[in-house]
Amino acid sequence: MASKEELRKRKTYLQIAGFECSNCHKTTREDGTRSLLRCTRCRMSYYCSKSCQRADFSFHKQFCTAIEELSNLDEVWYSCNGKESEWNKRKIYHMQLLPAALDRDLTSYESNAWLNQPKCHVCFRTSRDLENRSALIPCTNCHVVFCCSNEHWEQHRPKHKSLCQTYQIMVQCEKIR
Ligand SMILES: [Zn+2]
Ligand SMILES: [Zn+2]
Ligand SMILES: [Zn+2]
Ligand SMILES: [Zn+2]
Repeated sequence: MASKEELRKRKTYLQIAGFECSNCHKTTREDGTRSLLRCTRCRMSYYCSKSCQRADFSFHKQFCTAIEELSNLDEVWYSCNGKESEWNKRKIYHMQLLPAALDRDLTSYESNAWLNQPKCHVCFRTSRDLENRSALIPCTNCHVVFCCSNEHWEQHRPKHKSLCQTYQIMVQCEKIR
């Protein structure tokens, strides 16, 4: 059973997408900025301020370190060559490596963040796989689906169009809860 505290710290889709502060849930829109501060180590956690980053650090620290450790092993970041099956394989492979790096099981907060990490929906590259680790481009309506470039958005938009509404509802439901 996950503890209450752990459930409270379960990441929302918007937090994982970097649209919402990982600590106080403030969105980029409320903050009046285009983007939140990104954790410079793992690049997977976002904050509206340095003080929110500090407040979240005890929850985030171990996972962040484990990701950084994993990030330095080039062979585990093999290219997915635009194949969803390869992406899923790699994601699961990392899910097996992370507990070894942490020396414990992943919390629901961590596995949720890992399994839903932003990726391009066309080529299945994460920001870690992109040159200069540049940021992915989010959908301006749902904020939780990404592509790596405008070209890939052109390609993916027809497919996403019918699903965008569903993502928006999903995000709304999380806000109510
Ligand atoms: Zn905040
Ligand atoms: Zn981090
Ligand atoms: Zn792409
Ligand atoms: Zn969308």
